[in-house]
Amino acid sequence: MTDRTIMIDIGKDLFGANEEAAAHNAELFRQSGIRAIDIMGSVGTGKTQLIEALCEKLRDKYRILMVAGDLATTIDADRVASHGVDTVQINTGTACHLDARMIQVALKDIELSQYQLIFIENVGNLICPAGYSLGVDKKIVVVSVTEGPYMVKKHPLTIKRADMVVINKIDLADAIGFDMGALETDVREVDAKIPVYRVSSKTGEGIDTLVEALDF
Ligand code: MG
Ligand code: ZN
Repeated sequence: MTDRTIMIDIGKDLFGANEEAAAHNAELFRQSGIRAIDIMGSVGTGKTQLIEALCEKLRDKYRILMVAGDLATTIDADRVASHGVDTVQINTGTACHLDARMIQVALKDIELSQYQLIFIENVGNLICPAGYSLGVDKKIVVVSVTEGPYMVKKHPLTIKRADMVVINKIDLADAIGFDMGALETDVREVDAKIPVYRVSSKTGEGIDTLVEALDF
């Protein structure tokens, strides 16, 4: 047992400025008739694959823009673009999350009224993205069965600040003996009411239910 734990409190000013920018984004989305969804999760959890699966279901119905946040590459945006979806890349360099101002800059030369739906793939990291509002309608946390059993227990704040939890890669659960019920129990201990959906973005299992839940 550790005998010394230090709590760090990041200054509130930083978050205050972001909240202002987020409110600006939210108003812009509202005026443009856009619903925006922020997808958060660690590297390798299947955020891009989930966006691809959702785009396949929704691209005939809505004009979609995908905003990809990544430290350095355009891999994710390229994958989504291959589905005929417009994309914008934000390379954050050293920043391990997107903030509302980055979204503003990324969207400033885009005619937003042509879109009805924006998927924002946040930087692959389950910690700080949750602390930065982007002005979206929904924040979805993606966890997957391949990340081990403690992803939820170790990131309670991220769950608290999200609107929905998606457990991805359920097609692999049996093979690796992953207890999805236990993971859902962990979610319930943090937030008794947050909706949890089990999907496989690869096989498509659960995607229709998720699309319905998103109320498109
Ligand atoms: Mg990705
Ligand atoms: Zn960060």
